[in-house]
Amino acid sequence: MTKRIAVFPGSFSPFTKGHESVVLRALPLFDQIIVSIGINSSKKEYFSIEDRIKWINQIFQDNEKVRVMQYKGLTIDHCKKHGANYILRGLRNPQDFNYEMGIAQTNYSLSPDIETVFIITEPIYAHISSTLVRDIIINGGKVDQFLPDAISIDNK
Ligand code: ADP
Repeated sequence: MTKRIAVFPGSFSPFTKGHESVVLRALPLFDQIIVSIGINSSKKEYFSIEDRIKWINQIFQDNEKVRVMQYKGLTIDHCKKHGANYILRGLRNPQDFNYEMGIAQTNYSLSPDIETVFIITEPIYAHISSTLVRDIIINGGKVDQFLPDAISIDNK
């Protein structure tokens, strides 16, 4: 049987408890999940790609179904390169839905053999976003409660 491989694309700057929950809940559906950090060369990220990869590896070090990669270019091309027929995304609220629907429909038009699968966030994580976590860090606040236990970010 063909392996069910999903790509979970995102910026993950940083990877939060919300992202972790999406991966853990999606694991029973797939043989492999490739957490894939999209590199946008025109966008300056607050956390380096090396740190983001290191943190995600730490979180899933005991889970052999999860891999971490970086990629440039179209998500569907990255999926094809690694034999993934699914794109995994998380939904927190109607704003996410409106945004995600456009991306999913565009990806479907480009490549109908790749399905986007959504996990609706656990209510306790619905308010967590990487943007807010970064803002708290920049302003010297504590972000432990928003980050997976395995991650240690300086001043977390
Ligand atoms: P992007 O820059 O592509 O939006 P993010 O790293 O912000 O990447 O998010 C990646 C995916 O994770 C998106 O589908 C986003 O909606 C989802 N996500 C982000 N935060 C949460 C959360 N707290 N709960 C569930 N899904 C989330």
